[in-house]
Amino acid sequence: MNNALPLMHRYVALRKKVLKLKELHPYDLYVPIVAESSKKVPYDDGVKTILTALNVLGDDYITAMSNGFNSRWIDVYETKGKRSGAYCSGTYTCHPYLLLNYANTSHDRSTVAHEMGHAMHTWFTTHNQPIIYGDYSLFCAEVASTANEVILNGYLFDRATTKQEKLELINELLENIRTTVFRQTLFAEFERDIHQMAEEGKPLTPDAMQKVYHDLVQKYYGPDLVIDSETDSECFRIPHFYRNFYVYKYATSYAAATDIGRRIIAKQPGAVDGLMKFLKSGSSVYPIDCLKLAGVDMTTPAPVESCMKLFGEKLTEMEKLMAE
Ligand SMILES: [Zn+2]
Repeated sequence: MNNALPLMHRYVALRKKVLKLKELHPYDLYVPIVAESSKKVPYDDGVKTILTALNVLGDDYITAMSNGFNSRWIDVYETKGKRSGAYCSGTYTCHPYLLLNYANTSHDRSTVAHEMGHAMHTWFTTHNQPIIYGDYSLFCAEVASTANEVILNGYLFDRATTKQEKLELINELLENIRTTVFRQTLFAEFERDIHQMAEEGKPLTPDAMQKVYHDLVQKYYGPDLVIDSETDSECFRIPHFYRNFYVYKYATSYAAATDIGRRIIAKQPGAVDGLMKFLKSGSSVYPIDCLKLAGVDMTTPAPVESCMKLFGEKLTEMEKLMAE
């Protein structure tokens, strides 16, 4: 990831240019640089698109997923008193359930593809493993869901006709990679460094921890980011830091999912079979070996490198489209 930081610096520079800012502050990272489409995506249309886009995953997958859509696994719309967000929850003896708060946006459509990815992982695991292996680890959990998002994004991009549509899809991908791969790796470095300080007997004062965090934020986002002092204390408010060594799994999952998704889009022989083996493996083998079934070797830098290659390509496309 450290080798890929010049790409992030380029992305930050593009943001600064597009937003026409003299100084780019951390809060400017949250401002959309591509206008959100006003085009509504009704739920039924969204489902139809997902089924078509994921058709590349084969009959077994599509049959199981259609069954889910048609068998009322999903509570679709917001209602009074319902919790926010989107979740998938499964048990061994019953099919998974999905909670959505679908509000007819293209983002909501991606969320359905994502949550259905979790549902299918649960479905294929519980139907192929005994109860003792009938669950999957956190290291693997976000892979099945994110791979679906990557495939859907690629499908829509190939069919996008307007510059606006293309920019939206590139923006979605770049922002996902920025927040899930870059940012979570920054967090992981922070955790590693403060634990190392503790092991070396260095006092973990608020100032010392904020200094570590500040330097990492500057390193990741580069010279164009002007860091406000408030940002330094962000390191105390990330809930995951109170559950040690959790965050790196977001980054590894996303990298693995991109690798799988891109190979499936490119119709690489064996890519779909590999994913299906992975989905059926539950926790019958160690997480690293589960991912090897899908053709991803997380003991090598290759998956992260391929994710960064994708980030670089999409960034170049965005720079070109924005310059037009
Ligand atoms: Zn998820």
